[in-house]
Amino acid sequence: MDFKILAKKFAFYAYYHLNCNSYDRIYFENILLSLFHEEIPTNEEINLEEIKKMNVPDTLIEELYTLLKKKDESFATKIMGILTKSPSEVISQFEKSAKEINTDVALEDFYNLQIKNYYIRKNEIDKNIVWSCKYEYPLEITINLSRPEKDNKEIKKNTIQKEEIYPHCALCKENIGYAGNFLSSPRQNLRVIPLLLNNEKWFMQFSPYCYYPQHIIVINEKHTPMCINKNTFIRLCDFVDKFPLYFLGSNSDLPIVGGSILNHEHYQGGKHCMPLMKSKVKYEIFANKQFTINYIDWYNSVLSVESENRMILIEIMNHILLTWENYDDKDINIISHTKNIRHNTITPIVFKDKNRYKSYLILRNNRCNEQYPFGIFHAHPEYHFIKKEGIGLMESMGFFVLPGRLKKQMENIVDFFRQDKTLETFLSEHPDMYSFKVFLKDLMSRYSKNIDTEILKNVLKVRVEKICRNILLNTAVFPNTEEGKEHAFAFFKCLKFNE
Ligand SMILES: [Zn+2]
Repeated sequence: MDFKILAKKFAFYAYYHLNCNSYDRIYFENILLSLFHEEIPTNEEINLEEIKKMNVPDTLIEELYTLLKKKDESFATKIMGILTKSPSEVISQFEKSAKEINTDVALEDFYNLQIKNYYIRKNEIDKNIVWSCKYEYPLEITINLSRPEKDNKEIKKNTIQKEEIYPHCALCKENIGYAGNFLSSPRQNLRVIPLLLNNEKWFMQFSPYCYYPQHIIVINEKHTPMCINKNTFIRLCDFVDKFPLYFLGSNSDLPIVGGSILNHEHYQGGKHCMPLMKSKVKYEIFANKQFTINYIDWYNSVLSVESENRMILIEIMNHILLTWENYDDKDINIISHTKNIRHNTITPIVFKDKNRYKSYLILRNNRCNEQYPFGIFHAHPEYHFIKKEGIGLMESMGFFVLPGRLKKQMENIVDFFRQDKTLETFLSEHPDMYSFKVFLKDLMSRYSKNIDTEILKNVLKVRVEKICRNILLNTAVFPNTEEGKEHAFAFFKCLKFNE
């Protein structure tokens, strides 16, 4: 194997998998030869059947790393960017399919292109640990091995990021084709599709972390902060009108109860049926011929609004938002403002069921107090060793994305139970496990060191599930108790639908 052969293989990969014709193939081979400092192509035959069968380019990228004698991700991404049609050609192809077939097929093809061109690293994503479970309601849990973990302090710091950083943030359109630097990942193979939402310029791309298949991110062309208002609801409805098989939701616009990027307005969605979308109604707040408002049977505090009329839906959603933004109930720690600082916000989600619009409004409050300095309605400190990041859109809907470090940490615990070591020795050997101390002490009090490994693994899994459930209960502004129910009803009364 040499660079000449690899250039030929990559060119044929593009020919079979990236919508190239035979002219493009010659062109790509020559471009790659020059990139590899070679002058003439190889005469050697290569196994075309093998390349034809490839679902992803990972084998070729491994061959590249072997020849380079190092893992140069930036160089690999650059090659895949060269082999991918230009941003405008990808957009034209998308628009053609959307017009001639439908938007669903167009999105599916776009998604497959982003897998084939190594933007979505399918092989890596398939290594994530994924499972579902059911307590009062279903939950889905994934230990994501590729996404970096961010805590709330870091997220706050990012909102005051300096202007001169290029690209401003990971979502700005200037990432398209960018080689990356110490702060941002190489994105030569990123392609996006422009969208008009609420008559403003937005665009969409797939998430490289791909929490579930076709995990889409919808991004404002302007680098402008997250903001939940009536325009948000209009844009969400515009999106589901264009892509009726997808849901779209927004993280809230405040730290602690929002997502990891607050400084650039964006939404997330997909075709996946999230656990919350399988929930049932706990109580009908109001219904007439035009719309229905329900209180949802769920871990945290969620209202749903349904209507066939999108104007009515948007007005009702906005009315609930505005009422909630100024709502106080000191007995259960809900204080909407501290001086001029707002604490109340919502996490909205919209999807369509045939002609009917369905929406969820998850009520949120980001206040902190002495007892809960990280957030009263945030994961309480005893659970931070599992998840300390903000409980955003995904988790609120029952879809937990846990940090990749947990895989190794769970393996460490299994090893600890196999070894004859004291807890102190184990912790001194694994400083990152200090936050697990209380958890480990509790495990040791219940299980002996000779516990069967498979049984222990299952115990750990169930413990993680229960913590995820408890974290969601922590985020409920109206506790899931009889008393909490009365407080929720006091809020529904303030909505004045029955007057
Ligand atoms: Zn940005």
